[in-house]
Amino acid sequence: MLWLTDPLCLEHRSPWGEHPECPERLDTIQRYLVKDGLTEIFKVEKAGTATHEQILAVHTKSHLEAVRTGCEKESMLDPDTYVNTHSLAAALSAAGCVVKAVDEVVQGNTQTAFCAVRPPGHHAESGRAMGFCLFNNVAIGARHAQARGLKKIFILDWDVHHGNGTEEIFYEDSSVFYLSIHEFPLYPGTGRADSIGIKTGEGFTLNIPLPAESSDRDYIDILESSVAPTIEHFQPDLIMISAGFDAHERDPLGHMNVSPDGFAHMTKIVRDLANQWCGGKVISVLEGGYDLTALGESVSAHLRVLANA
Ligand SMILES: [Zn+2]
Repeated sequence: MLWLTDPLCLEHRSPWGEHPECPERLDTIQRYLVKDGLTEIFKVEKAGTATHEQILAVHTKSHLEAVRTGCEKESMLDPDTYVNTHSLAAALSAAGCVVKAVDEVVQGNTQTAFCAVRPPGHHAESGRAMGFCLFNNVAIGARHAQARGLKKIFILDWDVHHGNGTEEIFYEDSSVFYLSIHEFPLYPGTGRADSIGIKTGEGFTLNIPLPAESSDRDYIDILESSVAPTIEHFQPDLIMISAGFDAHERDPLGHMNVSPDGFAHMTKIVRDLANQWCGGKVISVLEGGYDLTALGESVSAHLRVLANA
């Protein structure tokens, strides 16, 4: 089990005062891992930054330029998405952590990795920042995995919000399967069950919208009845998790009732599927999760199972 983060991810901070997507999220996760004795079983690494080539495998040149100039001016990139002068470096480091995780997994140095990164990524589309996200970290990792020779990537997104960005990036692509379980209706409003991909990507996007107040049992049922057979049918070379923890019962931005035990159980199902179908290879990438205590407890529960501790 490899744990990847970068101090630059802490420098991305709202110039406009308090914001739920704050550096304290990563501090809290770190504190819980120390408290729960998990840092002793991880190999901890600081990753380098993603290269422009790796960013441009997913995003347009004009998007990269818009992020750069937005950060220089500290202007809002969309109504929800702040940046400061450090945000470009933070976003390149966040993506760089996922790239490094892919390299380590491809080289066989680890089977599983967790990237404790921010800004998050799954709302970022190929051509625009959105919903606290600048670059789509998990998508950049998936494309890098393919550049390193893994052919088929399965992305499971259990953040409470639909990952419109990841969906858009791979909507016409049959080599990356995008499966999202999310509260609906909720921001960003996409993720209906009839959005299934187009052209050669038709059938390689699966959206599972759930009503508010869905529970551990509801999520576990979906993993067993829908996610497991989809992975079996797709036969991925790597499973990536867009691991948001804002489906937690105390999260201020979602209305679900998932507990840390629920996240642990979901993780076990994914780990078992990875062991069965892709040599145990799982890369989990932090997305949302905005109640600090709930986030710390949930990530700790997730990693205890991912590390098989
Ligand atoms: Zn979210």
